[in-house]
Amino acid sequence: MMRDYDVVVVGAGPAGSTAARVAAERGLDVLLIDKARFPRNKPCAGGVTTKALNELGFDLPGSVVERDIMGIRLVSSGGRSVSARDSRRLGVTVRRATFDGFLAKKAVEAGACFLDDTPLIDLGTETGGRGERYLVTTSRGRFRAKAIVGADGACGRTARLVGIRRRWCRWELGASVSAEVDLPPDLSPDAVGSEPDLIELHLVPPLRAAFGWAFHRKGGLHIGIGATAFDAPRIGEAFRGHFRRVAQARGLEVPCPRGRGHVLPTGGIRRPVARGGVLLAGDAAGFVDPFSGEGIYNAIRSGRTAAEVIADAASSGDFSRAAPVYMHRCRQELLREFRLSMLLAAMLGRKDGLPFAMVEANPDLVFLLADILYEPGSYRRLFLASLVRSPRIVARFLMARLGLVPTGSVRISR
Ligand SMILES: Cc1cc2nc3c(=O)[nH]c(=O)nc-3n(C[C@H](O)[C@H](O)[C@H](O)COP(=O)(O)OP(=O)(O)OC[C@H]3O[C@@H](n4cnc5c(N)ncnc54)[C@H](O)[C@@H]3O)c2cc1C
Repeated sequence: MMRDYDVVVVGAGPAGSTAARVAAERGLDVLLIDKARFPRNKPCAGGVTTKALNELGFDLPGSVVERDIMGIRLVSSGGRSVSARDSRRLGVTVRRATFDGFLAKKAVEAGACFLDDTPLIDLGTETGGRGERYLVTTSRGRFRAKAIVGADGACGRTARLVGIRRRWCRWELGASVSAEVDLPPDLSPDAVGSEPDLIELHLVPPLRAAFGWAFHRKGGLHIGIGATAFDAPRIGEAFRGHFRRVAQARGLEVPCPRGRGHVLPTGGIRRPVARGGVLLAGDAAGFVDPFSGEGIYNAIRSGRTAAEVIADAASSGDFSRAAPVYMHRCRQELLREFRLSMLLAAMLGRKDGLPFAMVEANPDLVFLLADILYEPGSYRRLFLASLVRSPRIVARFLMARLGLVPTGSVRISR
């Protein structure tokens, strides 16, 4: 006999597990499926910002946290740096296998049923006496549901099966190449960068709107580079150059590993993310921050919103408004910030020497970047603060050019 659920959630990443947990907490009968066998790894730098941690609504245990993030080091292509240490924790680094496994466990604890190793194969509809129902075909049988959350990532099937999107356009995508580097167990963190609790962001011209990163976790580093999809053909070479610079700066003699390429479907474009009772969340909806590349916060936030909209529809018994209500909420909660983030990425464009020279002369600008990790709505504050301070920013930049303000590697804290 086919089992009936209120909602089937496809994909157990941060978006899907959050949607499943919140829906179960709201009293719905929830099935969460994932095509991978858990624990599964997910290529990711594993930076979970404080705003994402707050959105979760519960603390992560020490076994899930790799390192606290206490600041940012911005590194120019020439190797100069501005290190800004914050008094607040800006986030943590995690291994995605552990983090995602923990979020799926929280969904199960809330009452959701979780089937891993269970890919979605097909999605159809059935109309009967109880209104429209979705028929979910998986490798482990068929299920019926009143609503679906498609949280199956950038290359998920849900969007295609219900006709929301056939494929991404190139201009909607970012591209990335990254690799994990395990360090010898006897190597202390100090030996591989004096401050492993700072995340490192590198400017990597000549790629457009590109940056490289190096994030520390216990016993290793995650090194990667992100750019627009238009620069995808050149990103492999840029990754190898970035890797060499990161390794050299730490005196590490490790061969450059084969980086893995991924797409990042970025937000900022008004596009359909729902149809009928099917709501897309996280990467499946294209909710990666265009400037920072952060996706986990937006996945958690949209997963929660999808669950709330479905729970409200279930209590009124009317699913006909679920799609427009969800899209309205996504525009309010995410799209505005994505647009400012996109604008910032476009303004910095080819991140050559000029933006770094501005920051070098005004190191406290890095704290505006830190705010983006700390709380939602920070892009608007960043633009306003930069506007208000622009005379001082330009004056200090000009003074630095004249040699009246010291430059070179800078360290600040607040
Ligand atoms: C190299 C790289 C580094 C990144 N670093 C960061 C970072 O440091 N911080 C940050 O915030 N973001 C980062 N991101 C972005 C972040 O990884 C994603 O935005 C985030 O994982 C999105 O979560 P999600 O739940 O939407 O999708 P995912 O985490 O991709 O989960 C989707 C799930 O759906 C499952 N699935 C797919 N198809 C099916 C199917 N047919 N049936 C059933 N299940 C299916 C998959 O197995 C997967 O478990 C990075 C991305 C990349 C590529």
